[in-house]
Amino acid sequence: MKEIILIKLGEIVLKGLNRRNFEDALVRSLKRRLAKIGEFQVKIAQSTISVTPVYDDTDMDEVVDCVSKVFGIAAFARACVTEKDLDKIKEAAGEYLAETFETAKTFKVEAKRSDKKFPYQSPEISAEVGGYLLEKFPHISVNVHNPDVIVTVEIRDFGAYVRAGLIRGAGGIPVGTGGKACVLISGGIDSPVASYMMAKRGIELTAVHFASPPYTSVRAEEKVVELLQRVAKYSGRMKMFTVPFTEIQQEIREKCKEDYFTLIMRRFMMEIAEIIARQNDCHALITGESLGQVASQTIRAIECTDAACDMPVFRPLIGMDKEEIIEISRKINTFEVSIQPYEDCCTVFTPKHPKTQPALKEVIAEQNKLDCKALIERAVAGVKLTNIE
Ligand code: ATP
Ligand code: MG
Repeated sequence: MKEIILIKLGEIVLKGLNRRNFEDALVRSLKRRLAKIGEFQVKIAQSTISVTPVYDDTDMDEVVDCVSKVFGIAAFARACVTEKDLDKIKEAAGEYLAETFETAKTFKVEAKRSDKKFPYQSPEISAEVGGYLLEKFPHISVNVHNPDVIVTVEIRDFGAYVRAGLIRGAGGIPVGTGGKACVLISGGIDSPVASYMMAKRGIELTAVHFASPPYTSVRAEEKVVELLQRVAKYSGRMKMFTVPFTEIQQEIREKCKEDYFTLIMRRFMMEIAEIIARQNDCHALITGESLGQVASQTIRAIECTDAACDMPVFRPLIGMDKEEIIEISRKINTFEVSIQPYEDCCTVFTPKHPKTQPALKEVIAEQNKLDCKALIERAVAGVKLTNIE
């Protein structure tokens, strides 16, 4: 029996004239993501996208998992396809729903006829298919008000679909429709979650990671790659730039007051990320900061880091508690990777008494003890690209 996926369009429907762009972006994301699993036809008609596997041995559980992570989809369903013939539809429904009905007690049938040439009207289709199912599965009964299973029969131009309940989609809007932004990604819990949240709002991601070999290991960088691969299941592919940060950190440690280490380091990060962002057509930076979580995330500290760059900085976690952030990181499957204990460049050089109420002027004065321009130029020149799929 041929199984397909039917996708109901989400918030997209609200976008008026932009609707076509949104639909195209969604179809593009779907195609690209599905190409990793097999060959599919992806078609859009009457506010529904259908995903049809070309080969019958396609693993549909894998397809469901993939589709459930594509932004712009409010809900979708697995469905079977049959000819537009009432007897064929009944038989297909009986066979296709057998497993679903094993655990159900009540059901109802809803029919939708978008092909008005089909010789039966919707109420007739519902009654016929419902009657057939009642006979075939004697343990279930009809309940029109609160059924365990709603069976939907759709008569469309190219065939008929039978499906049971809807599966919740990832929500959000299609990646790419919101432009591009550059996320500062560490190996921690927060920045992968921040990446996911901005991708959900349609942002295409580019990632920048700062590494300080030999203080940070190759494995620490591989951890970041693994995190981004998990984020990419939602955001789609992206470029990751690894910036050599050792020289800058050593210079700060040698020449600046210890209590300002972290802040000055963070200011360098923002400035370098902004340069890479501009080179890659990004128009905002993204960080995983959450107000008050650590010393470098007080309002005064954020004021200091924010002043290091001109681009808007998106901090989608700013008002969230750690528990809420962890909940999302579990949901998107980054948590177990994030908690693996590899050094981040931030943890390698942590001052004993970081300033929590820094004054911007003092921070800038401290930073200006260094030859910032040359340091930044060298760091940017040493950037390494990794493609994340
Ligand atoms: P995370 O869980 O994302 O590591 P955090 O709570 O550890 O965040 P900080 O270490 O203060 O917080 O970092 C704040 C933000 O700065 C991070 O969310 C990330 O966006 C960015 N950042 C920190 N370290 C790095 C790094 N090595 N490379 C790139 N960005 C970084
Ligand atoms: Mg961190």
